[in-house]
Amino acid sequence: MSNKILVATDLHNTLVKSNDAWAAAYSKLSGTDENAVLDRLLTKESRRMIAEDLGVSYDDVYNEYRKLLKPNDRMIEFLRYFNYIGIPIVIISSASKFRVDNDLELIKNSLQIDSAYSKETFSKTEKKDWDRLITQYNCDHVLYFGNDKDEDNIIHDKVVSIII
Ligand SMILES: [Mg+2]
Repeated sequence: MSNKILVATDLHNTLVKSNDAWAAAYSKLSGTDENAVLDRLLTKESRRMIAEDLGVSYDDVYNEYRKLLKPNDRMIEFLRYFNYIGIPIVIISSASKFRVDNDLELIKNSLQIDSAYSKETFSKTEKKDWDRLITQYNCDHVLYFGNDKDEDNIIHDKVVSIII
């Protein structure tokens, strides 16, 4: 009996501390309290709406976010163990390819990633996308790490979701 695993991981707020960076970016440009913005981000309010409401340009906030974004060092350190024992790691993100590619730049030197899926190529709620991934990597199980108790709780008999 084989028991091959694949490690899959979410990107935002799992491998990179995106909410912290967004909150700091809005706060810096608008003078609003960082924690107040963080609360709004946690309710998943649209980032463009928040920008409009705070009277700042979304593009400026995004550029500031890029500068302030930090890796989640503890999680990366943990996942490096799978690199070390030769288990492939893939990124599964609901963000756009543009954001995934840009934000992955931050961690590409510290973690070896086999491939990255974004909203254009993978839907976390689609069983067929997980099936395709499992076939492609010829694995028995997927260990999936994410930060969101709803979005990252994958319903699939071969996927074990771990909410960090
Ligand atoms: Mg996330």
